[in-house]
Amino acid sequence: MTDLLALPKAELHLHLEGAIRADTAAELAARHGVPAPPTGPFAGLGDFVVAYERARDLIGSLEDLHRVARELVEDAAAQGVVWTEVHLIPPTYAGRLGPGEAVLEAVLDGLRAGSSAESAAGVIVGVNRGLPVDAAERSLRLALLHADDGVVGLGLAGDEANHPAEAFEDVFARGRAAGLPALPHAGEGAGAQSVRACVERLGARRVNHGVRAVEDPAVIDLLDRRQVCLDVCPASNVLLGVVDALEQHPLPALLAAGVPVTLGSDCPLFCGTGVLGEYARVQDWLGLSRVEVARIAETSLRFSAVPADRLAPALERLSAWVGEG
Ligand SMILES: [Zn+2]
Repeated sequence: MTDLLALPKAELHLHLEGAIRADTAAELAARHGVPAPPTGPFAGLGDFVVAYERARDLIGSLEDLHRVARELVEDAAAQGVVWTEVHLIPPTYAGRLGPGEAVLEAVLDGLRAGSSAESAAGVIVGVNRGLPVDAAERSLRLALLHADDGVVGLGLAGDEANHPAEAFEDVFARGRAAGLPALPHAGEGAGAQSVRACVERLGARRVNHGVRAVEDPAVIDLLDRRQVCLDVCPASNVLLGVVDALEQHPLPALLAAGVPVTLGSDCPLFCGTGVLGEYARVQDWLGLSRVEVARIAETSLRFSAVPADRLAPALERLSAWVGEG
């Protein structure tokens, strides 16, 4: 683990509420008089959604948002993560904690407060598939306000089985035209065609999860040809029953096909592991060489929005790490 700690990496698949520290969750629950979220195992997606909503309800003020964001970057630094992209859906809090602008600014300020020479972070402003398209329009406008100032892309999350990506094609096209890459979730609650839609209709640069692309070799081929990256979270996939066990996870097939892959923790509060733990488990499971592990870390850096003055030294340290074995 200390060896993997020294490997410079980016974490590109992490949700703000899912990244609340366990002791912070307990403290906020006591302060606000709400129950702490159960941390699994979960009987199914419905159970998990309830737990996730409880985590969200722990955040009772803009100060709480700021704190969770700050702690998230500090925890990333402690895992050798030089850059984090955290997924936030501002309407989740807007109204309850203030307007969307205030919600986003509290998170951006918190991330800056947690930043150091070792680690920093940006925000993926997420669109909820289940909300009407005008909510997506508002999210795009909000994201563009801070596009030069901490927002690194436009995300998409929620019920992909019942809300196809196609409805958001125009919003994402305008986001891309304004310099915001499309970073949607797909291929978790629905199959390979949902991944294809994100690539072909939304112009996805990366897909969060995307693992069910393996259900159609043509979609794997599409990801390989276009070099679309998948931000894969094996522990989350096991927790939510996307696969029955780690040994059944399609990660080896994705790597063998040449699809760019990163490792992320999705929701460490619930998955019981951070990104460093994911690297360790995957290395153990697949017996990856130093070069193979470093390739995943390098992919995470190259597909991220990490600023150039952090990227160059991270890649240098990564090359040195490979040679140390
Ligand atoms: Zn996710």
